[in-house]
Amino acid sequence: MRPERITIVEVAPRDGLQAEDRVLPTEVKLELLERLADAGHTSIEATSFVSPKAVPQLADAEELMRRLKPREGVRYTALVPNETGLDRAMSCGVREIAVFASASESYSRKNLNRSRDEAIAGYGPVIKRAKAAGLRVRGYLSMVFADPWDGPTDPGVVSAAAKQLLDFGCDELSLGDTVGVGTPGEISTLLSALRRDIPLPKVAFHFHDTYGQALANVLAAMSEGVTTFDASVGGIGGSPFAKMAGGNLATEDLVWLCKGMKIETGLDLDKLVATTTWLGEKLGRELPAHVSRAVRGGDV
Ligand code: MG
Repeated sequence: MRPERITIVEVAPRDGLQAEDRVLPTEVKLELLERLADAGHTSIEATSFVSPKAVPQLADAEELMRRLKPREGVRYTALVPNETGLDRAMSCGVREIAVFASASESYSRKNLNRSRDEAIAGYGPVIKRAKAAGLRVRGYLSMVFADPWDGPTDPGVVSAAAKQLLDFGCDELSLGDTVGVGTPGEISTLLSALRRDIPLPKVAFHFHDTYGQALANVLAAMSEGVTTFDASVGGIGGSPFAKMAGGNLATEDLVWLCKGMKIETGLDLDKLVATTTWLGEKLGRELPAHVSRAVRGGDV
């Protein structure tokens, strides 16, 4: 099975920037969001309403969301850790939130300071309130293949957690291979378990390229009917709590794959590459040249 079209959720402005040493000015973040929308992105994770102490890189979430001009056909998501975060997000006009849970026990305790079950249950009131207010809700579930402390994650546990988040009202679930250890073999096993409990159209994958498996995993998931994937321009980002994690799957790499396979993404590769070059200058480091102009040639 090969989809005609996939949706790429751009996560660089949140998942990417929170992992950078340099804190970008709000003005630059707004330009990044504009550039990503100009490149054709329709779903962009813009910022996070977690504690500014925990993630100082995104401490300007309120100002950013207030100044961000709405664009027809573009959804901007903001990460929300709890009801306080939801209040902050709603006070500045956020229309789509994301909640962040873990499929594994140790990562939940280290990242969220709560057991897996407590953390997931705690999102119930947040999701329900957001839905009652007419917001769209994305749920993240991390460590879906393995956790660096706990080892392999049981697909049945992932499926049960996914079902619970959907039952609370999540519109979409992004399943994260937070350490980047999954291979196409694990994708099939996990999807078999998920298929029994939840509708696959609500499932997205969030791959990391630690062991060079991200695109292979995308292909495997696509072949089983998944059509939404998270990616980050320049491949920036990784989990600050899992130091061994490699970067996010680079948006340019995913678009290049799709171009070759004649799968529509709605994205302009030249604009993405130009954005990565520009972003590297703003971050003060050269970002890897995913898909060089020389290789791409004129029109591709
Ligand atoms: Mg990531």
